[in-house]
Amino acid sequence: MPVETYLRNPTPVDMILWDGSDDAFLEISAWVGTSSETGPIFRLHEDGVTGQIYDTEHHSWVNVSIGQRVVKGSVGEHYPISPEVLAKTYTLAQPWQLVEAVCQGCGKRPHELFAYIAPAVVEGMTPAEWGYREEGTYNRRNGHFLCDGCYIQAGMPTSPHGWTCP
Ligand SMILES: [Zn+2]
Repeated sequence: MPVETYLRNPTPVDMILWDGSDDAFLEISAWVGTSSETGPIFRLHEDGVTGQIYDTEHHSWVNVSIGQRVVKGSVGEHYPISPEVLAKTYTLAQPWQLVEAVCQGCGKRPHELFAYIAPAVVEGMTPAEWGYREEGTYNRRNGHFLCDGCYIQAGMPTSPHGWTCP
């Protein structure tokens, strides 16, 4: 069979750094949870510093060296990743990449609105980043905002601490 070339989809992937500390142990343990086979699926190696994550697919414990991260995979599995692979394969997600910004009036996204595209180009940002940073009505929890036209049409709502789109 011929070699096929795929691009990896840019899917958000969650991970926690294992630094050997008690705090990291508690955070990772709470985050990965338990399995019916083993109980807790994160534990300390008998050397006292290496972590171990249980691979629920292959039913085996995998070492997590200090400096590696525990990754939550796309089907709920966990595995360690080294800093080298992380640097080569992953980019830290920015907050404006994790929610999709949509004007709740017209349904347009920042890259479809000239009022976002123009200043973003000037500032060297994507329209989504510009909207996240500069749009006064932008709701950082869900990405909702009102573009200028829709804000006026909505009667220019205000509130004492700055109005954001629900
Ligand atoms: Zn709009």
